[in-house]
Amino acid sequence: MLNIEDIRKEFPILDTLVYNRPLVYLDNAATTQKPKCVIDTISEVYSTMNSNVHRGVHHLSQVATCAMEKSRETVRDFIGAKECCEIIFTRGTTESINLVASSFAETFMKEGDEVIISTMEHHSNIVPWQLLQERRGIKIRVIPLTGNCRLDIEAYRNLFNEKTKIVSVAHVSNVLGSTNPIKEIIEIAHNHNVPVLVDGAQSIPHKKINVQELDADFFVFSGHKIYAPTGIGVLYGKKKWLEAMQPYHGGGEMIKSVSFSKTTFNELPYKFEAGTPDYVGIIALGRALEWVNSIGIENIASHEQELTRYAVEQLNTIPGMRIFGEPDSAAVSFLVGDIHPADIGTIIDRLGIAIRTGHHCAQPLIDHLGIPGTARASFAVYNTKEEIDTLIQGIARAVKMLS
Ligand code: PMP
Repeated sequence: MLNIEDIRKEFPILDTLVYNRPLVYLDNAATTQKPKCVIDTISEVYSTMNSNVHRGVHHLSQVATCAMEKSRETVRDFIGAKECCEIIFTRGTTESINLVASSFAETFMKEGDEVIISTMEHHSNIVPWQLLQERRGIKIRVIPLTGNCRLDIEAYRNLFNEKTKIVSVAHVSNVLGSTNPIKEIIEIAHNHNVPVLVDGAQSIPHKKINVQELDADFFVFSGHKIYAPTGIGVLYGKKKWLEAMQPYHGGGEMIKSVSFSKTTFNELPYKFEAGTPDYVGIIALGRALEWVNSIGIENIASHEQELTRYAVEQLNTIPGMRIFGEPDSAAVSFLVGDIHPADIGTIIDRLGIAIRTGHHCAQPLIDHLGIPGTARASFAVYNTKEEIDTLIQGIARAVKMLS
């Protein structure tokens, strides 16, 4: 059993009053709050070891480089990757997907080749492929949904042909809060010798991930959704793919030698990390993952699943409630009658309750559902059932005002 009250004490922002009421922060799928140890790490790096990494022979540069590379090892261990060179630091999920789309396509795809994505993808797993569609004539095939908003796996099987070069799908939907059968999705793709990119933005904070067990070819996530700072993220890629792929950005750090006649690229992971990395963010990401480890991701997952079950049960007591999909992770999307979700969000904000409303950067899914958007409550380890009770009271009050 986790002591949630003790955990809450580690998050300074949770003491905030919003319109004179205690903050009830239920927008964790957008970003999580940060524990004091992560906030302190940022200040500590600037106060005690700030120096550009990798380039210096001097003491501080070596200390900063060691701390950054220690974080790479922490990430490797956290996601069960085989080697540290398979961990590339990026700005987040979005940049990681853009990197793969761009570099993979440059190396392995030609006009007419196909990528498979799904109806429930976040825009950051749609638009990078659309850019390739425009620039390089690549085709996008889309996995449809079943009636209960699950991926239609039989339809997915039928999307493969000799032109299919990559599959790119979310592990957990940021709108529906449901987990896709990612192992099966990967197995099916591998039977066609097609690699799979897993968008782990919404799974990494809520599930034990082992990329080798999943046999994922690429796994991407953002630090800020797992208690780390904004602006730092990860691309895991199997070495065989990363080694073969063209670099994404060019610049310092990613080269072995440069001359005007020929440039040779650095080894992995540096080939994909052009320019000064966000070493402060990287070190703080390592600290955040150590913090998660100290609580235990399985403990976090079971607490959040319990909150999700409770939220679904309590939301369903509100007349006219519609919950979308089958949430099993840490987010629930809903509408009440024909009330616009933004109206609910605005009213309950006045009660100190933060939820997200709108299309959640997944417009094709929202269009598929034929709705204007949803209201989404999403949970982290520091949330409590009492906060869900406050949410339910808030929604009931908003509904009363709006009907
Ligand atoms: N994919 C999913 C499933 C997400 O939930 C998000 C963030 N909402 C992203 C991608 C994009 O993440 P970021 O903005 O941190 O790059």
